[in-house]
Amino acid sequence: MKPKKSLGQNFLRNKEALTKIVVAADLGVEQNVLEIGPGEGVLTVELMKKAGRILAVEKDDRLIEKLKLKNEKLKIIRGDILEVNLPKLLEENSFTNYKLVANIPYYITGKILRLFLETQYQPSLMVLLTQKEVAERIVEKDNKSSILSLSVKLFGWVEIIDYVARESFYPVPKVDSAIIKITPHLHQKSKEEIKSLMRIIKIGFASPRKTLLNNLAAGLNKEKLKIEEILVSNEIDLNVRAESLSLVQWENLRNKLE
Ligand code: SAH
Repeated sequence: MKPKKSLGQNFLRNKEALTKIVVAADLGVEQNVLEIGPGEGVLTVELMKKAGRILAVEKDDRLIEKLKLKNEKLKIIRGDILEVNLPKLLEENSFTNYKLVANIPYYITGKILRLFLETQYQPSLMVLLTQKEVAERIVEKDNKSSILSLSVKLFGWVEIIDYVARESFYPVPKVDSAIIKITPHLHQKSKEEIKSLMRIIKIGFASPRKTLLNNLAAGLNKEKLKIEEILVSNEIDLNVRAESLSLVQWENLRNKLE
């Protein structure tokens, strides 16, 4: 079977990395795990040893044929994770409490993250293999934030568990990988709160080359002088770009802008 590049098929061939993923997921027999893209099932097999039940969503029919991991703990769903009705799938399988553990297809990393951050039933933990650069962007390794990093941080605490070299995969991809773990905050902000924060954040990032001041003035249709006043009162430099602000600064800013 020839791996499909278009489906982001790079199969993990590194036992150590598999162990690290499973350990980070901190599984027990009472826990449900949702896996995206089980592929040849290397991770699925490890998950079955530790978890209660596993739901695995796989898009490639050829793999579903091969997977046939006959086990009453495992249910394979044929489909595209971005097209399934996620809340319905979770409800039907009594899976509203679950952990998301996966070596995901990298071409839809952002979409997958957004889906699980915004869905009605959010995972109680996420352990994902992602492209190294994406993982570093999410943890703000260079101290620069992004819409992606802020939306993840709004939801939880994020850390890089370890790096996984490209040679650990077949076929060998052009990028290295990292295992990230996202632990939800104990107290989640309300949907309205998140929505209003993300609105301001998106306006602030609208034109990455422009200053925060200019993006806010344009996006909020407010006088520049007014925005300047608010930035100054929040001790935010007038020349900064959105990427320099921390989540707390965004929250304070939003409170004054509203
Ligand atoms: N977890 C396996 C495979 C990772 S490769 C391993 O670690 O070896 C990514 C997997 O995601 C492939 O099996 C691919 O077919 C599957 N996939 C790609 N796009 C998908 C989508 N939209 N929905 C569900 N699965 C998808």
